[in-house]
Amino acid sequence: MRTQIIKVDTNATDWDKQLDQAAEILRSGGLVAFPTETVYGLGANALDETAVEAIYRAKGRPSDNPLIVHIADTAAVKDLADNTPQTAQALMDTFWPGPLTLIMPRSSLVPDIVTAGLDTVAVRMPSHPIASALIKKAGVPVAAPSANSSGKPSPTLAKHVIEDLMGKVDVIIDGGNAEVGVESTVLDITVTPPVILRPGGVTLEQLQSVLGDVVGSPVPDTAEMPGTPKSPGMKYRHYSPKAMMLLVEGAPEQVAAEISKRAELYCREGTAVGILVTDETAALYEPSLYSCCKVLSLGSRKDPNTLASNLFRCLREFDEKGVEVIMAETTDVKGIGQAVMNRLIKAAGGNIIKL
Ligand code: AMP
Ligand code: MG
Repeated sequence: MRTQIIKVDTNATDWDKQLDQAAEILRSGGLVAFPTETVYGLGANALDETAVEAIYRAKGRPSDNPLIVHIADTAAVKDLADNTPQTAQALMDTFWPGPLTLIMPRSSLVPDIVTAGLDTVAVRMPSHPIASALIKKAGVPVAAPSANSSGKPSPTLAKHVIEDLMGKVDVIIDGGNAEVGVESTVLDITVTPPVILRPGGVTLEQLQSVLGDVVGSPVPDTAEMPGTPKSPGMKYRHYSPKAMMLLVEGAPEQVAAEISKRAELYCREGTAVGILVTDETAALYEPSLYSCCKVLSLGSRKDPNTLASNLFRCLREFDEKGVEVIMAETTDVKGIGQAVMNRLIKAAGGNIIKL
């Protein structure tokens, strides 16, 4: 398949005209990858079963992992969901457009393939101007998982999508960096109190300020969740770089000492090592390590949004450099840190040392 890459700069006049063709392709059953504020998404017309099937094929996504349906107008919810739960309105008013996905009872309009046969549907209204304009122009709800090969780190730049999906989709829209950097928060509002099925761009604390009572998502000790999780996607090893990954948790000095010790051993045997640090801890590592390892900072612990924003890009950068082992510091599980730790633990396949 020939994949067309369309670069869109939202500062240009009439930029949205550049989306006309992609919108037409979406409407008529094609696959279009596009930027959202969380990560890049791979979209298809959610009401077209064959088009949605093609998403699963292009990504190699297991068919029991349902998709999020993206809309550009809250009015579309009534077509997709039956008996919208009471809490929905306050959540939509506060967090839409934005990185919050609501799980609601599904309507008969939504094909089985979108929900993987569940009786609920996941709906989100993204805030990214390109995502929003594209969905509006297409005039259909757009099913869109992250635009990566299943299992790999999610894409935050068009080049990540190109790496994974070139030749497998009709269009890739390059709209620059996906700022939030982690996926949306998935919130089940079919139960009382609502339950976070996947931590993401909207934090537990933000949801509590609107809902009062919310059940947070436990930080898993391992990547594999036991039993049948309510959000099927959470059971897979996910977001994983090619390298083996190890998380080290503890006081910053101890963590740096442990990672340095292990890195030296790896360096001596010629293994390519990547170390994931933060701006505040970078100086705790021996200068000599900087010559034998690839060291990347996720950003500043004082602004945890930067940690989320850079996470997947750093994991992909290690892969690009041929790193074989990645060692990473952990981060506080407050605010967006919940989502960052969730992704780190899954990327590491639950491989964590607690000092
Ligand atoms: P992705 O689009 O790749 O970021 O993944 C979407 C996430 O939403 C996965 O973890 C899915 O399991 C979850 N999801 C989608 N639809 C539902 C649903 N109806 N009920 C529960 N979780 C869902
Ligand atoms: Mg995904």
